[in-house]
Amino acid sequence: MSGAATGSDASIAPGLAARLAQLDARVADAARAAGRDPAELTRIVVTKFHPAELVAQLHALGVRDVGENRQQELTAKRAELPDLCPLAWHFIGQVQTKKARAVRLASDVVHSVDRDRLADALHAADPEGVPLEVLLQVNLTDDPGRGGAAPAEIERLAEHVADACPSLRVRGVMAVAPLNGAPAGAFARLNDASRAVRSVVPDATWISAGMSSDFAEAIAAGATHLRIGTAITGPRPERG
Ligand SMILES: *Cc1c(COP(=O)(O)O)cnc(C)c1O
Repeated sequence: MSGAATGSDASIAPGLAARLAQLDARVADAARAAGRDPAELTRIVVTKFHPAELVAQLHALGVRDVGENRQQELTAKRAELPDLCPLAWHFIGQVQTKKARAVRLASDVVHSVDRDRLADALHAADPEGVPLEVLLQVNLTDDPGRGGAAPAEIERLAEHVADACPSLRVRGVMAVAPLNGAPAGAFARLNDASRAVRSVVPDATWISAGMSSDFAEAIAAGATHLRIGTAITGPRPERG
């Protein structure tokens, strides 16, 4: 885990440093319980719907990875915070193909590549540019509207991105556990998808899984990247 929370800056919202430290302690406990080294885990703080100021405060507390799920909000926050460095911006929401260029411009990592056309559009946005890190999103539900490619499609999608989109670097897989039911079985299926992707891109070892309510199960199932919102930020403001 990166970054020690100092909590000494008077401008930091009350409780934020404590919630961050407490979450990191729970993550470390879950990692040790699963026989894993907490240092293998990247904790992404999901800042969606919160003002850019919260990102600045988190950065002051040592956070180096944040997640956003709407392109306009991400683009606006980056513009407000041009000097926060180092800081990786992870895009974790569904991407409309027509927004692919804007998403690419504003993101360091895109977790939600789930179809050929989106990969093609992200590539076409900057074919000679610095490679964009991408994860292939897997839909672990029966609802096609939830985003992600069907598990049976993932290997073929990995082949497409690897063959046709040289400016995208496939790093692994991402999923959200189904709302109902135990997450452990879903995360096991994500592991199968990870193996399928690694049969195409051997070093695509990232597994982005686990949120405030299910990160321990995700860690037990092999997650490498946790996307944690409310447990750190507190309740989200209403959608603007
Ligand atoms: C909002 C969101 C999260 C964080 O959820 P919390 O329950 O607030 O931790 C993680 N992943 C995705 C894809 C999200 O949209």
